[in-house]
Amino acid sequence: MGNHNHHHHEHSGESLIDAARDSLVSSGEQWTSMRADIFEELARHERPASAYDIADNLSAKRGKRVAPNSVYRILDLFVANNLALRVESANAFLANSHPGCEHDCIFLVCDECGEATHIDNDEISEKVRGVAKAADFRARRPIIEIRGTCASCS
Ligand SMILES: [Zn+2]
Ligand SMILES: [Zn+2]
Ligand SMILES: [Zn+2]
Repeated sequence: MGNHNHHHHEHSGESLIDAARDSLVSSGEQWTSMRADIFEELARHERPASAYDIADNLSAKRGKRVAPNSVYRILDLFVANNLALRVESANAFLANSHPGCEHDCIFLVCDECGEATHIDNDEISEKVRGVAKAADFRARRPIIEIRGTCASCS
């Protein structure tokens, strides 16, 4: 994560789905039809989505009930494999536009419309990690989220 000169790829649409599948498969996990459906559903959401949102949409799409718990487990797997990002203060998830590379992603979360703008700034996250290290604390994952009002809501 300390490498500022890596080849950073941002994906969207079909290319994002391909990149997510490749990334999951290369870490030895299967891209099942349920996982594919959940990822596509997540990628369709512009705002952070909860397991309940995804389960509702998927139940409608598949014509049979999909339990939020199974969606939640798969979202957790996605987060662990860098396919999805968890927006903690919204208790919801976003598809990760850069499944191929790891960052401590930063979010600007709008209190009005719920939009979460995704920012990568390794300089800031490394400073946060440095503060933890100086306090003899081993940082696993800094969570940097800024609540406020987005441009279209202000
Ligand atoms: Zn990157
Ligand atoms: Zn990021
Ligand atoms: Zn807003």
